[in-house]
Order: sequence, then structure tokens, then C-alpha cells
Amino acid sequence: MTAPSSLPPLVDGATRLYGIIGDPIAQVRSPEVLTARFRAAGRNALLLPFHVAPARFEESVRGLKALLNLDGIIVTVPYKARILPELDRVLPTGQKVGAVNAMRRETDGSWTGDNFDGKGLLQSLAKMGHEVRGLKAAIIGCGGAGSAVAVAFAEKGAAALTLYDIEEGRARDLARRLETLFPDCVFGVLPPDPSRQDILVNASPVGMAPGEGLPYPFGPLDPRLLVIDVVMKPPLTPLLRFAESCGCRTVQGRAMLDGQVEEVMGFFGIGEAG
Ligand code: NAD
Repeated sequence: MTAPSSLPPLVDGATRLYGIIGDPIAQVRSPEVLTARFRAAGRNALLLPFHVAPARFEESVRGLKALLNLDGIIVTVPYKARILPELDRVLPTGQKVGAVNAMRRETDGSWTGDNFDGKGLLQSLAKMGHEVRGLKAAIIGCGGAGSAVAVAFAEKGAAALTLYDIEEGRARDLARRLETLFPDCVFGVLPPDPSRQDILVNASPVGMAPGEGLPYPFGPLDPRLLVIDVVMKPPLTPLLRFAESCGCRTVQGRAMLDGQVEEVMGFFGIGEAG
């Protein structure tokens, strides 16, 4: 006879639901990471992956929001900006970034969104002992992830941020927006020149697809440079492999995700038990 488990069943009629929406979806890690944390916190809750097609985005989101036992949604590529009109309010970080990656149902049934990508990366960098305050960083890619990193670095007191995007207008728009919010940080819109930087961040998707190389044709990198790639491609992206071959310290994409788990749990109103 087997001993009865002390754990509640994984799912029953009273289970509260959370979701992650994206396209594609099979690569996401939040369902296992956050469901395990919900259970560790003693909550009868599950986070499920929902594959949302771009052509049916609005009706899919409205359907999810209409479910009375669905309390929160994680939002991933490519919907972090597109979700904004579906929200009733966006918290200050999400407003500065212009995109959100988590949304929750309030007690009055309205929906609030915020962005935790930048805070997540900062949290992991602090744990690893990497400083941002007073340093110069180049950010490649000024979409959702790049904007989140730029806001977080500027908020943390970076001295200067060089923004680069193959669609130059995106880098220029971001610089213009952040200049007014962070007057103590110097913003430049230039190709990334790692010899003038302390930190290099790839926030473009380059390195995700098989056979892709570096996001920019760099020469040898100074070993004092800290190189961060937000692309999640274990074990190493081409940029991180190259950086390690130059003797640089590197930070992988999962640092951004791992660092925001506590923040997202708090946003959903779920704390650790005991
Ligand atoms: P996005 O489409 O919003 O933005 C990507 C930007 O990169 C675009 O502005 C595009 O023009 C630019 N770009 C593309 N190729 C470039 C190049 N060679 N040089 C310069 N700019 C280039 O996408 P996103 O949501 O910002 O995501 C970007 C990457 O970050 C994706 O791979 C995504 O999976 C990853 N990401 C990881 C995490 C994490 O937790 N680690 C979180 C968010 C996003």
C-alpha cells in the first residue's frame, strides 16, 4: 500500500488558472517554473501555455479574460506591445517600456499589466555581482526586450546607453523617449562599438535560429567587457560563444527569466508559504 501524498491533486474543479500567451509557445518555461512555485506556496493554481495565432489575437485574449477562474496571463513574443489596448491600466515600468509581460485580474474584474523583464535581468546581475550604476552599455535591438533593458539600466543609474537597431527609427524613438525620463543618462543612437563600453547586451533575436551568427560583425572583444545575451538558447548563443573565446564574462538569457520569478509571483499576489 502506498502512503497518501501530502500534496493536493495537480488539478481539480477549484484550481485557479494562469496562462502564458505567445507564438510560438512550445519553447516557454513559465508553465513548469511558475506552477512549481504556485504549489510551493500552497496554492491550488496552474499556469498553462496558450498558443495564440496573430490573426486571432484579440478574440483569443478577450476569451481568456472572460474566464472567471483565470487570474493572470504572462505575455511573450510577439504580443508584449500588442496587448496594451486590452488592458485597463499599465503600471509605471510597463508605461516606460511601452510593453508588458504580465497582466492580472483585479478584484473589480479590470486588468492591470506591467513589465518585469528589465527588473529580472537586474536582479540576476546583482546576484552575480555585476554592477550597472555609472557604467556605459550598448544595447543591440530596441524592441520589447531592448526597451526593457534600457529602462532598467537607466533607472539603475547607467552613465550612458548606446542604442542600435537595424530599424534605426526604433532606436531613435526609444532614445527620444528615455532622454526625457532619465536626464542623467546619456543616450546615443550608434552602431555598437564594444571598445567604448563596459557592457554589451544583445536584445535582438539574432542567435535564436539555427545557423545564425553574431548580431553585429564585431572584431575581438576586450576581456573586461561584460556580454549579456537575452536570447534563450542553451547552452550558449553564437555571441556568448564568441565573447567567451575573447575571455569576456558572459550572462545567458535565462538570467532575465529566472530573476523575475519572485516579482511576477508578487504581482500575481502569491507569496511563498511559511
Ligand atoms: P522584438 O521583435 O520586439 O524586438 C527585436 C528588435 O531587434 C527589433 O526592433 C528588430 O528590428 C531588432 N533587430 C533584429 N535583428 C537585429 C540586428 N541584427 N541588429 C540590431 N537589431 C536587430 O522582440 P523582443 O520581444 O524584444 O525579443 C528579442 C529577443 O529577446 C527574442 O529572442 C526573445 O526571445 C528574447 N527575450 C528573452 C527574454 C528572457 O527572459 N530571456 C525576455 C524577452 C525577450
